[in-house]
Amino acid sequence: MAAYVNRTISMMAGDGPHNVSMLNNGSVRVNMQNVDSPLQIFVRAKKKINDIFVEIDDYVKDAVTFMHAVSGENGIATPQDMGNVESYVSKVEAIREVLKRDHMKVAFFGRTSNGKSTVINAMLHDKILPSGIGHTTNCFLQVEGSDTNEAYMRTEGCEEKLNVQSVSQLGHALCATRLQECSLVHVHWPRELCALLRDDVVLVDSPGVDVTPNLDTWIDKYCLDADVFVLVANAESTLMVTEKNFFHKVSTKISQPNIFILNNRWDASASEPEYMEQVRTQHANRCVDFLSRELRVCSPKEAEERIFFISAKEALLTRMRDREKPVSSPILAEGHQVRYFEFVDFERKFEECISQSAVRTKFAQHSRRGKNIAGDVMAALDRVYNIATEQKAAKVEKQRILHEQLSSIEEQLTTITRQMKDKINRMVESVEHKVSLTLSQEIRRLSALVDEYESEFRPERPALEQYKRALHRHVEAGLGSRLKKRLSSDIGNEMDVVQKEMAERMYNILPTNKRAAAANYIIPHQQPFEVLYRLNCDNLCADFNEDLSFRFSYGITALIQRFQGKNTNRIALNNPPQYTQIPASITPVSALPPAPRAALPVLSAEEWGLLSKFALGALTSQGTMGGLLLSGLLLKTVGWRVLAVTGLAYGALYAYERLTWTAKAQERVFKRQYVAHAGKKLRLIVDLTSANCSHQVQQELSTMFARLCRLIDEATTEMDAELSGVRDAIKMLDDASTSAKKLRNKANYLSHELELFEEAFLKHNN
Ligand code: GDP
Repeated sequence: MAAYVNRTISMMAGDGPHNVSMLNNGSVRVNMQNVDSPLQIFVRAKKKINDIFVEIDDYVKDAVTFMHAVSGENGIATPQDMGNVESYVSKVEAIREVLKRDHMKVAFFGRTSNGKSTVINAMLHDKILPSGIGHTTNCFLQVEGSDTNEAYMRTEGCEEKLNVQSVSQLGHALCATRLQECSLVHVHWPRELCALLRDDVVLVDSPGVDVTPNLDTWIDKYCLDADVFVLVANAESTLMVTEKNFFHKVSTKISQPNIFILNNRWDASASEPEYMEQVRTQHANRCVDFLSRELRVCSPKEAEERIFFISAKEALLTRMRDREKPVSSPILAEGHQVRYFEFVDFERKFEECISQSAVRTKFAQHSRRGKNIAGDVMAALDRVYNIATEQKAAKVEKQRILHEQLSSIEEQLTTITRQMKDKINRMVESVEHKVSLTLSQEIRRLSALVDEYESEFRPERPALEQYKRALHRHVEAGLGSRLKKRLSSDIGNEMDVVQKEMAERMYNILPTNKRAAAANYIIPHQQPFEVLYRLNCDNLCADFNEDLSFRFSYGITALIQRFQGKNTNRIALNNPPQYTQIPASITPVSALPPAPRAALPVLSAEEWGLLSKFALGALTSQGTMGGLLLSGLLLKTVGWRVLAVTGLAYGALYAYERLTWTAKAQERVFKRQYVAHAGKKLRLIVDLTSANCSHQVQQELSTMFARLCRLIDEATTEMDAELSGVRDAIKMLDDASTSAKKLRNKANYLSHELELFEEAFLKHNN
């Protein structure tokens, strides 16, 4: 017997749930603060899985925030993925709530007064539940740790806390409250006072299985989540049918329930030690048979480990004595130490069993669930990552194309600008030359234009002024229309060609997708180009003063002028005048009558030379002396008859000219003077007009080119904006894929954590 006790002590002290020490008086002390309790497995597992679920919670929330950021229009997260991930927030919160409340539950069953309450009290090292005659438990009592340091009671469906400071108060409270047999009363006891409660063990006391026909309701309400069942039997009698019945029902509803059988009141055997072993063996065999053969919840060998012979009353007394250190020790029956050690042995095995079972049943499914959530969120993030990567690749390609297009436009624009500048310059030069040439040609045929003008000519001043104004207009209109006819279409066509080329080349440098929008603006306007002239004859010929006074062609002044004239005149004097050009401004050629010309005296070369010398002399001397000398010389040279004839002819000539000096003749003179004057004036503005025209062309082409450049500029600005949009999108997609990758990796990490959790707490547990 002593050897059995010592073996048990050493076994307990080595790896048992509590430090057990032998006291001087032979009693045993058990240290409640044992940190190596098997219950710590559950406590650690619960903490670990709670921590993991805190991370899963954060992770899912982060994933939702991320999905929100990348969903919506053109988003990369599908609404379905978004909805899925969002739904996990509440699911994870619910799991966390369950996890927080998760505990190890042990339910005590047996017939009335078998000592269920006493066993619970002994396990809790305190008289928490009322027991004994008059305190038969008539409802379910659930003892659990109170988070606050207060003890209170709460009935089912009622939030009111009934203050309970002592067992007697609790007993009174239970008696005062009319409770149904099926009702549940929560007894919250300060955790600090009981190791089991601190380690999240919940103990449920039940009314005797012999007092109720509602066993099914009991099981459904209080047993389905129990990790361990303890059948408190009475060692003084054998297992009853009511007790067996109950567990039969339990085993049909719960697969493989963990059942311990406590043969309580084993202290009674002390009074008959000679039958003790025999009775023990008999009880043990029946219990093993019940568990392994009848219920089939374990093997016979395992069943042997689940059957204990204890005295709850002694165990409680021992523990209460140690706690309160009373001066007088209660008198315990022979062999109480062994029974106590067996009780402690039960506790150790019970703790191992409940811890492992609770970890397995409570946390295995949460771990699985956690892995599924992490996996699902990871899959959603994977899809986001893939979409982000694909879209990013497309955007990068678009960015490359836009870059290329922009630099190509810039390059081409530089080339075209240079070429167009050259083209415009050449065109300007050509127009200047053309206008100058055409205007000069038109000035040369000005007399024809003036001759075309038909209107009554009257030499009186007012009529003449009117005639002059009308002639100005005629010349202006005629010259203008001819210039327009000759130049406008010519230059216009050239302009059209250049403008078309300009537009086409500019249009072609735009990327194809921008051409349609630019086409409406870039096609050159269809209005024909018109050269603008400013030939204001009114102003140009404002200083024109006609000279319509009669002048005899062979008058002294006319002759002097003729001789003083130009070289041609001199030549004419030196050569006999077969034909003499009379300046149009003075006398119209056509006004010279042919007859008098034929009647001119035919002088020999010698005479003509002498005459000319005299005439020159006369002309140059400008004096009467000269005239006399000349006439004397002539008289002497040609004789008076010749002189008389000549005088007569001269007079006739004069008379003739005077008579033919009509309005018509005056108009002709006027027109010739006008042509000479206007021609001179117009020649002055040839350069100016051609410069103006070329400037006009330059303006027209430069404006058009600038307009085209602006269009290109608008297109490139649009492309720049597009490029910056693409850059932003790339950055966004980059960030999104980085975040998706990070979150995806975190899901991996969480799955790995759960794997480790299963490895540490579940795998070896099976
Ligand atoms: P319950 O109805 O199953 O909860 O039984 P109780 O715990 O209330 O116990 C009924 C009576 O049995 C009480 O008076 C206890 O003191 C007594 N009792 C409980 N356990 C033992 C034990 O191991 N030995 C002896 N002798 N009496 C016990």
